Amino acid sequence: SSGSAGTSGTRFDLERETELRFEVEAGERVQLELLSGLAEVFGSELNRNKKYTFGPGSKIAVFTWQGCSVSLSGTTEVAYISKDTPMLLYLNTHVALEQMRRQAEKDNERGPRVMVVGPTDVGKSTVCRVLLNYAVRLGRRPTLVELDVGQSSVSVPGTMSALCIERPADVEEGFSVQAPLVFHFGSTTPGTNIKLYNKLTSSLAEVFSQRCEVNRKASVGGCIINTCGWVKGSGYQALVHCASAFQVDVVIVLDQERLYNELKRDLPHFVRVVLLPKSGGVVERSKDCRRETRDEKIREYFYGFRATSFYPHAFDVRFSEVRIYKIGAPSIPDSCLPLGMSQDDTQLKLVPVSPGRDLTHHVLSVSSVDDDAEVGAGQSRGILESPVCGFIVVTAVDTQAQVMTVLSPAPRPLPRHTLLIMDIRFIDLK
Ligand code: ATP
Repeated sequence: SSGSAGTSGTRFDLERETELRFEVEAGERVQLELLSGLAEVFGSELNRNKKYTFGPGSKIAVFTWQGCSVSLSGTTEVAYISKDTPMLLYLNTHVALEQMRRQAEKDNERGPRVMVVGPTDVGKSTVCRVLLNYAVRLGRRPTLVELDVGQSSVSVPGTMSALCIERPADVEEGFSVQAPLVFHFGSTTPGTNIKLYNKLTSSLAEVFSQRCEVNRKASVGGCIINTCGWVKGSGYQALVHCASAFQVDVVIVLDQERLYNELKRDLPHFVRVVLLPKSGGVVERSKDCRRETRDEKIREYFYGFRATSFYPHAFDVRFSEVRIYKIGAPSIPDSCLPLGMSQDDTQLKLVPVSPGRDLTHHVLSVSSVDDDAEVGAGQSRGILESPVCGFIVVTAVDTQAQVMTVLSPAPRPLPRHTLLIMDIRFIDLK
């Protein structure tokens, strides 16, 4: 029942419990408008007679519980209606979580802590967004914990973060990210430094638990944890570690029975492990596509998102003003480690870096650690466990003059002077 072209685009009539899926072609924009009925995008309700714009590469599903008509204008790569969606199962999951929140309220306990897992491209982030939206629409204040260092929905890639959700995600922009808690990981895969990854997972869990102790709404709201698609070997161990660090009550496994069985076997019996299907609408993303999304996320950090443009600053920073570190010494064979040192120590070690040309284009995290904090071997913990207060990109290095030029969201001076190097590069084309 689709396809009748109107003056302002193509009209689609959707029956109840179906969804319109579309992808926006490269270099194009597509406008969506709800003409009648009720509809939502990943759990956020659409307003009638408002035009929503989606940029190149967007992959969107407009779902309706009651039936609706929408119009699309612009060039889509595909646009089709599907009757086969797992939304009812996702809704049932939400209902079960909401029951747990009500029970928690009554018993003065904490609400559900949920971990969403599965291989890449099964719609983990989307399921998190739907569950968070449904919870916040009922007045809950759940926390999103973002552990996907490759495709973070909260901050730039290479970070691990937590965000209190206070309103539904904006249909076009996603959740509003005011005051997230962000930690520096430094690369786009946990495998680069699994010790650090697990350590930061624990740090986030600790901060979240402390917040729950002083904030009843946060405690009842619970959390939804988005994880990486690496589910084998150390990646799997990291999931088990996360479950224990956050003391999760529910694990949602998307699409993979093997992972479901492994987690049922390895997690304590009181953890509810649920297997849910992935949506047929989730589109596989190529390596290039992932790289573009990461780049876009960094560009957004500096330049803003469409309507809200930011104007970043460029200025020089003298080498002597800052101290730059990389976390983790290159791993060396056990037999070569100095006496009394373990492999763990090398992975969590702060290695001072003297700036050179090879620093150009790297993203650096500005640590919130006190500038006066002494950094000895034993002090590295303070820096690892300090959240990040912002990011800069090195755009040029002049070793003669001993200065580097940086792109920064705020004018000089830097708010703090301890910088952590990411493996991630950003080439500013503006
Ligand atoms: P990753 O491998 O990065 O962890 P993921 O499992 O978290 O990925 P998502 O990011 O949730 O997957 O989804 C992948 C893409 O599919 C996103 O662009 C999302 O907008 C799109 N998508 C999800 N569900 C649907 C749907 N029902 N219809 C159309 N597109 C969808």
